Amino acid sequence: MYDNMADQNDESGGPNGCGPLLASDSPDAKPLRQQVFEHVRATGRAARTDVTRALNISAGSATTLTADLICAGLLREVEGLPRESGRGRPPVALEVVPEARYVIGIKLSDETHSAVLSDFAGRPVADATLPSSPGRKSLDTVLEEIDILIDRVLKDADMSLLEISAVGMGIPGIVDHDTGTVTWSPFLIETEVDIRTAFMARFGMPVYVDNDTNVLSLAELWFGAGRTIADFVVVTIENGVGMGLVLDNRLFRGARGMGLELGHTKVQLDGALCRCGQRGCLEAYLADYALAREAATALDRNPRTPQSPYVMLDALFAQAKSGNEAARTIFRRAGRYLSLGLSNVIQLFDPGLIILSGERMQYDYLYSKEVLAEMQKLTLSDGRTPCEVEVHAWGGMIWARGATALALEAVTAAALGEARG
Ligand SMILES: [Zn+2]
Repeated sequence: MYDNMADQNDESGGPNGCGPLLASDSPDAKPLRQQVFEHVRATGRAARTDVTRALNISAGSATTLTADLICAGLLREVEGLPRESGRGRPPVALEVVPEARYVIGIKLSDETHSAVLSDFAGRPVADATLPSSPGRKSLDTVLEEIDILIDRVLKDADMSLLEISAVGMGIPGIVDHDTGTVTWSPFLIETEVDIRTAFMARFGMPVYVDNDTNVLSLAELWFGAGRTIADFVVVTIENGVGMGLVLDNRLFRGARGMGLELGHTKVQLDGALCRCGQRGCLEAYLADYALAREAATALDRNPRTPQSPYVMLDALFAQAKSGNEAARTIFRRAGRYLSLGLSNVIQLFDPGLIILSGERMQYDYLYSKEVLAEMQKLTLSDGRTPCEVEVHAWGGMIWARGATALALEAVTAAALGEARG
């Protein structure tokens, strides 16, 4: 299940650790004991001397702080470090007590909901999926589905709900992380849904929610390429076009919790109609439904015959691969719009890396060499190294895994003395 993460993290959460590896320059630094704990978790295993060096604290402080964390049952000593010389006791290392806390990460979707149960070291313990009921539904129905999904993942882990400290949840749509409110989601009938309060009332535990692209960006920051890059961008091309931005090792959420709607930035005045109701949005040239709209014509299908955009896109892709020029043109045009969107992102944020991610990155025309070359051509980068682009075709569980990071962040802050909403 997790093998497609193996290239970046051999034993995710194990000796390689998880979480951002670079220290933040932010002036509102976390309490020192939290920094110690997070350093140990990020490295997987660390000697006290590593902690002293990494956090620039005295040996005495490191000893006091780690003793306190061991006493609290959050860290433990292991004999896991190689001996520097051939003699004497092997040096003692510190690691997170994995069973100190458990969290569940959930990704809600209009096709399949997924869940990952993770220990405090960030290692996945169990996972589960549940087909989502079709169409828009009420909050009650969604909570019912979440209930079944949680049951499944607990059964897989042979655990009970009482052992879980918190749930993290990625939801498509406009989601306010700070208030726990879903302003709008493509599968919810209601708007302005206070999912945090409803969840607490039903399950008796805190839930932390965010836009699904943000949880995917957290997955990159905690478990992927973003662990060693302070400033990076994640762009997803799925039903819509989403964007997550990490600045100084932290997810940037904006001032009003709107999410970064790259898909609704305009690339054409009075252009194609977008599903948001406005014209000329990037998404109207690039998203599944936009390509499916054109595919119907290219493939000579009756546009009035209802057909899933996924089926339509797969057919279009197969046609393009087998040399159908009309099908190729559609993908190429979409790719050119993507290069335009990406060049704007580079120009605005000067990121260290752009990660194209999501489940549907199999349509490789969208990010072909030509697309990336055009992106560079549209970007002013005289005398600078051009921004790199990586494509990550993660499996479906990556979103839920990112949601575990959302919960782990909050549970860590609560356990280590930083109050957070
Ligand atoms: Zn739009």
